[in-house]
Amino acid sequence: MGEADRGETAPRHRLEFYCANGHRTRLSFAVDAELPDTWDCPSCGLPAGLDSENPPAAPRNEPYKTHLAYVKERRSDSDGEALLAEALAKVADRRTPRG
Ligand SMILES: [Zn+2]
Repeated sequence: MGEADRGETAPRHRLEFYCANGHRTRLSFAVDAELPDTWDCPSCGLPAGLDSENPPAAPRNEPYKTHLAYVKERRSDSDGEALLAEALAKVADRRTPRG
């Protein structure tokens, strides 16, 4: 029907991959190629997936873990509550007027 795509070599699948850092990678694959579910982001190296809303999670050895995240991992909820109570008691103690 007069489509002006004669310059195209072969039909291709175009896929977009999204990484957890919000990078978008556009790739095209031959139609007979096996299409990957994930792709390593060329910008940051994280795995990138086809779903922009749910990019693959970063690998476990990611360096940007906060101290709080470590504390939360190590301590149970009850430990956390005890620590919080202790901290509040200290604050209350400090606020109590002396004499
Ligand atoms: Zn990236």
